[in-house]
Amino acid sequence: MPHLMNTYGRLPVAFTHGEGCRLFDEQGKTYLDALAGIAVNTLGHNHPRLVKVLREQVGRLIHTSNLYRISEAEAASDRLAALSGMDEVFFCNSGCEANEAAIKLARLYGHHRGIDQPAIIVMEQAFHGRTLATLSATGNRKVQAGFEPLVTGFVRVPFDDFAAIEQLAERNPNIVAVLFEPIQGEGGINLAHQDFMRSLRQICDQKEWLFMVDEVQCGIGRTGVWFAHQHAGIVPDVMTLAKGLGSGVPIGACLATGRAAGVFKPGNHGSTFGGNPLACVAALTTLDVIEADGLMARAVTLGEAIRGGLREGLSGIAGVVEVRGDGLMIGIELDRPCADLVQRGLAAGTLINVTADKVVRLLPALVMSDAEGAELVAALVALIKEFLGA
Ligand SMILES: *Cc1c(COP(=O)(O)O)cnc(C)c1O
Repeated sequence: MPHLMNTYGRLPVAFTHGEGCRLFDEQGKTYLDALAGIAVNTLGHNHPRLVKVLREQVGRLIHTSNLYRISEAEAASDRLAALSGMDEVFFCNSGCEANEAAIKLARLYGHHRGIDQPAIIVMEQAFHGRTLATLSATGNRKVQAGFEPLVTGFVRVPFDDFAAIEQLAERNPNIVAVLFEPIQGEGGINLAHQDFMRSLRQICDQKEWLFMVDEVQCGIGRTGVWFAHQHAGIVPDVMTLAKGLGSGVPIGACLATGRAAGVFKPGNHGSTFGGNPLACVAALTTLDVIEADGLMARAVTLGEAIRGGLREGLSGIAGVVEVRGDGLMIGIELDRPCADLVQRGLAAGTLINVTADKVVRLLPALVMSDAEGAELVAALVALIKEFLGA
């Protein structure tokens, strides 16, 4: 038995290499990868341009320190600022760290405004990470159970429910920010309405709250825009990124603008590894390739084709509740727990995930081809029909 701490129930497979949306295991079996390391491998596996750039960077510099200027981090921050219309970027190494930065920023912002017990509105079914603050912000008891006392200062409302937020605005003077995912990933591919986001933007302006979006899973081109909130035509005050940003090289980011800009000063926050040259060239290359290869438009057309194919193939089948999503963030909700589908998919050579008990989740790389999309639809229709006994 390996000495890994028992934090994951792992599937009995180990991959040796990958190519695009294909992975190969120790036995030489081939898999179609519709998960991309949970929305991480934006450019698929072994992308020639990313590999070349990373090799060159490794031979030049991997890490220096944030005690010095880092030109790659400066370039990556300029790029993210241009794409988002936001002003400042703090680099870290993961999604939970990006959210920790956002939570700290909101609290400090509150204290600057004379609020001693600042509170942040968070949503049901939300997922923000596994550190103490981010699991406290998460709206899933399974993630929290056993780790009490939780971090205080979060107020929970139903997802996508503006009336609930208006009510809180009336009676809670300690609120300083709202944190939510424009599309909930772990929560089961739940989309916030554009109207909800626009109304929320307005109330945040009226109340001088920070509008904070967690785009760790839904950001980086996956839904046909750089960041999912852009569908609503608004700009947040704070945005967090990670998963797909480095195409597999760990990097997270917390962006700030407007009244959230300038809140952190030297000494307020930091990260030893954050913004190192290797991670930042991975991010820059990921963003460059998405743009150069038109991968956001691809995410839209391929996502539509996959959802259309699934709806057609699964139409009239009892047990299928809904096929939903945006771009290449796709959920198939069944009427019963279906975690077993992951094993069945693995046996059939298709890598998928199940979240929120009943939702099959697809998060393929943005480089997936039309043929691979069609292959994925056929495989899933067969798997789900068999599972449901249809
Ligand atoms: C995965 C995820 C996180 C946590 O990211 P880690 O890198 O695992 O810490 C936070 N928020 C959302 C929306 C996520 O999907």
